[in-house]
Amino acid sequence: MASVATMRGHLTNSSLLRSDVLIDGKWKGAASGAKIDVEDPFTGQIVGSIPSLAADEVHGAIAAAETAFIPWSREMNRHRGALLRRWYELVMANQEDLARLITLENGKPLKEARAEIAYGAAFIEYYADEAGRIFGETIPPLVPGRQLLVEREPVGVCAAITPWNFPMAMLTRKIAPALAAGCTMLIKPASQTPLSALALLVLAEEAGIPAGVLNIVTGKASMIGDILTASPVIRKISFTGSTEIGAQLMAKSAPTIKRLSLELGGNAPLLIFDDADIDLAIETAMVAKFRNSGQSCVAANRIYVQRGIHDTFVKAFGDRVRAMSLGDGFDPATDIGPLIDEAGVAKVDEHLEDALSHGAEIVAGGKSQGGHMSPPTLVSGVSSKAALTREETFGPLAGVIQFETIDEGIRLANDTPFGLAAYFCSSSPATIAKASRGIESGMVGINTGLISTAVVPFGGVKMSGLGREGSRYGLDEYLNMKYICHAGL
Ligand code: NAP
Repeated sequence: MASVATMRGHLTNSSLLRSDVLIDGKWKGAASGAKIDVEDPFTGQIVGSIPSLAADEVHGAIAAAETAFIPWSREMNRHRGALLRRWYELVMANQEDLARLITLENGKPLKEARAEIAYGAAFIEYYADEAGRIFGETIPPLVPGRQLLVEREPVGVCAAITPWNFPMAMLTRKIAPALAAGCTMLIKPASQTPLSALALLVLAEEAGIPAGVLNIVTGKASMIGDILTASPVIRKISFTGSTEIGAQLMAKSAPTIKRLSLELGGNAPLLIFDDADIDLAIETAMVAKFRNSGQSCVAANRIYVQRGIHDTFVKAFGDRVRAMSLGDGFDPATDIGPLIDEAGVAKVDEHLEDALSHGAEIVAGGKSQGGHMSPPTLVSGVSSKAALTREETFGPLAGVIQFETIDEGIRLANDTPFGLAAYFCSSSPATIAKASRGIESGMVGINTGLISTAVVPFGGVKMSGLGREGSRYGLDEYLNMKYICHAGL
């Protein structure tokens, strides 16, 4: 087996590593030569670079997507689906290399990166099939001699802006439905994790997706965001990222009345009720909290445990947290890799100190140990005034808060402006019915911390966003309804 050192950055298919962008079917750098470096969060070494495009180059990409729109939207749906299917097969054939690129640029353990490729590819596969199922409707008329039809048409040229935490899956769940619907697209990946996005486009090109249908722009985010929001050609923006930037994009899109999908921040609660199966509760907490080192929008940020099961849960959960291994994502033994940057580590430390200053106690772990390494940590006795109950920690810090009654647990879970994911563990049908209805959230996991899949509508309520990704509802985000009234029949 290859050593950790040789695995780092080694690709079987070296054509996947790019430092230029694909616009209108041509790979190119910035005319100015300006670049942004990409860093390995574990070693701090530069592992690649991307072009920092100028405004006219971003406008050029919009023009390419506009030109490609009419022919692509008029392609047979079956043909668009076949190209997506081919792309899916290429992504899965290159799963190991794509996973390595993600671990290299994001730091997550390689086993999680492999899982992200499979999860992300599932969106391409799903929408390859859905392309052939974009149906219209007939509506019975109220007067004779009329035919009332509803057709579904692609919304036009779309843009996707994505974050660094799931660099591949956040893209495919936007690109695949957009292309299936007949839209063309510009994608703007996070500057910290663009390498896997570029590799995805290498494979899209190889799959035969025509020039101009899928373009990638990289560079200064605010400049690109301003151009995309102001452009009358861009008919829709799909954004995944922070609520702050999402709100800015929404305001800036108002003058051109764009459609928006906003997958924003979360602050997920996990409730463990007295009647929960303790082993299931621990598994749920481990996955909901520590996947991707806690850097997930659906990460359980606040763990509320009912009094009767509290002490048993804290002890058993503490033992599991202590047993986790912190290290290099390329080391197969690693459970928790480096966080994306120093700001991410500083935020976790701040939340820990703040929780301790409000009376919490450390059960496992502790403060960061330099670099981007933040150890898996559990604190109990967390006050509801602590910052970690109010805002996303985005790191491997779990905080436990004790509660008394089912109603109190649900009230605490809802005490947030966010509503993306929520989880609870119980074996009582009555508690399950009450909590699943009472929790204000776009998604609810019962006795599981792993709820994301391509076939379900993923998305939030309240300040967690607008719209849904995945499932047939995710396709509707890229389709306009056209009502056609045919009279005189
Ligand atoms: P972010 O700072 O909002 O960045 C996300 C993307 O927006 C990046 O591509 C970034 O580009 C770009 N961006 C930054 N400023 C911009 C501007 N003024 N105009 C246009 N684009 C701009 O978020 P993040 O820190 O990368 O990601 C973490 C956040 O994403 C968390 O809040 C998390 O909960 C959320 N998230 C939500 C979901 C969901 O499905 N709801 C999924 C994953 C993550 P640069 O990288 O170049 O700065």
